[in-house]
Amino acid sequence: MLARYDYLVTGGAGFIGSHLCERLIAEGKSVCVLDDLSTGHLSNIQGLLQQESFHFIEGSVLSVETVNDCVNKCSEVIHLAAAVGVDNVINKPVETIETNVNGTENILKAARNGNKKVFIASTSEVYGKGWKVPFKEDGDIVLGPTSRNRWSYACSKALDEFLALAYNHSYGLPVVICRFFNTVGPRQSGRYGMVLPRFINQALTGKPVTVFGNGTQTRCFSLVSEVVDCVLALMDTPKAVGRVVNVGSTEEITILELARRVREISGSSSEIIIVPYEEAYPAGFEDMQRRVPDVSRLMDLIGIRPEADTATIIRKVIEYGIPEGAR
Ligand code: UDP
Repeated sequence: MLARYDYLVTGGAGFIGSHLCERLIAEGKSVCVLDDLSTGHLSNIQGLLQQESFHFIEGSVLSVETVNDCVNKCSEVIHLAAAVGVDNVINKPVETIETNVNGTENILKAARNGNKKVFIASTSEVYGKGWKVPFKEDGDIVLGPTSRNRWSYACSKALDEFLALAYNHSYGLPVVICRFFNTVGPRQSGRYGMVLPRFINQALTGKPVTVFGNGTQTRCFSLVSEVVDCVLALMDTPKAVGRVVNVGSTEEITILELARRVREISGSSSEIIIVPYEEAYPAGFEDMQRRVPDVSRLMDLIGIRPEADTATIIRKVIEYGIPEGAR
């Protein structure tokens, strides 16, 4: 069957997906999006819906029939659809595991039938509570017990990676796997727990900025447009096939410092409050203390990496504002 679209983007109405689709369309590519709108929104792709080279299908990656149909229509697959956000992971554990594991299995099976190249989005969560930063792709991963829900997300994504690598190894399916580190930018919603849109929303509305734990935990934030650059470059790099690649910034910042910078840059007089983990999350939650990527593999493969600094990123998100529905 002749492919009608250059790319299938699952989760294309989500935060990263919508930025990726905009870029592809701007580059003259045709795109089909499959999204169940569980955490994605049509408003994210409003500007694309009228374009002739863009097609939106509301449906789930859990439907084998829908997935087969969509994959058949496209030359390559970018699989971003997944359960997102700490809140969802903790409150909807069954959906999280099934969406991440069965959805990816459906995508890989369909891609294998047509031998289509597949991009699989994974996450820095898979490193778990490893302490040897920067995290290298071939380093050990350290996960908590199965009695603590948070780890189901990391484990489901690690299984996605295993399965994709197995399809590559056993069937020669061309797969590219990325571990994203805290991607942020315009349009990201704070509803599912993500820290930067939450802080900015709190600062802009004069509410207290809520730092969980003691604020010494660190993260590295990368700008979504630069992450999109990396994804597309990796998809165009034959040597990236069959590899797992970290995609993230290496500028490490504590969450308390992030809160201070958001307050300063936004000119807000919100107070910064410390919220103990026991109050912020359900019992049994464990946070990661540090998360820093080793980006040497990324650099070896494509020669670029996310490099916008945190202050610039905060400014861009403030400039864009957090839409009412996304707070
Ligand atoms: N966090 C916080 N205040 C909030 C939301 C999150 O201090 O209102 C913390 C959270 O506990 C974690 C960090 O910010 O240490 C990043 O959280 P996020 O959910 O954005 O990403 P992840 O934990 O997956 O890196």
